[in-house]
Amino acid sequence: PATERYLSVNNIEVIYDHVILVLKGVSLEVPKGRIVALLGANGAGKSTTLKAISNLLGAERGDVTKGSIEFAGTRIDRLTPAELVRRGVIQVMEGRHCFGHLTIEENLLTGAFTRNGTRRQLADKLDKVYTYFPRLKQRRASQAGYTSGGEQQMCAIGRALMAEPEMILLDEPSMGLAPQIVEEIFEIVRDLNQKEGVSFLLAEQNTMVALRYAHFGYILESGRVVMEGDAETLRNNEDVKEFYLGLS
Ligand code: ATP
Repeated sequence: PATERYLSVNNIEVIYDHVILVLKGVSLEVPKGRIVALLGANGAGKSTTLKAISNLLGAERGDVTKGSIEFAGTRIDRLTPAELVRRGVIQVMEGRHCFGHLTIEENLLTGAFTRNGTRRQLADKLDKVYTYFPRLKQRRASQAGYTSGGEQQMCAIGRALMAEPEMILLDEPSMGLAPQIVEEIFEIVRDLNQKEGVSFLLAEQNTMVALRYAHFGYILESGRVVMEGDAETLRNNEDVKEFYLGLS
């Protein structure tokens, strides 16, 4: 059912460098099969929340000092990023992080490293990625570093798809991209959600676009959730329009 508890972040606190309190008790839910947007201005704590879930804060001297994180009924807050990937929780980092010197196809193949499979299964997975991202198929032999920003974002999501995700944590997919490319990427996200059943937690500064594709949204301000609701409700909320859409 749509309301099943799936990814559940319970009152987490995150501190960087032992002193900088950045998340001050954040709670959120992503029900199975849903797209949930995590919104807010630059510095509100969106990336930090995603990295707390995927246990990537260590590299930045960040610690989850309070709260818990569950996925599909079990605690995941002590799992390594590799273990999380095996459970189907995959983060696509902000700034994309494709390997610039590898081809698009080689990048995609690196996404499958945690799943054993025959050559045939690997080829089938690649084919599936290419049906969602026809542009990547065209550019399969190009070095990723020489492809466009939009293609690199697609490559990063395609690579996540190769690992057979249940849940993708997608950080700022619209960053630096032209509006029509952003729409193209969000259309694919919606498609993956509807056809493959992948759930998404989507951090976005682009509130307007995110709320057109998400089912539900949370708004973060200075490390706290200040508002939450159905995407439709948030889109029509006067405060959201004024503060986040610039449409007062
Ligand atoms: P952005 O869109 O810029 O990524 P965000 O909402 O994702 O914004 P975060 O990147 O999570 O925000 O940052 C939240 C706060 O934590 C900011 O004030 C930022 O300066 C601070 N911060 C982020 N990373 C670190 C770090 N490694 N050490 C100290 N402070 C940090």
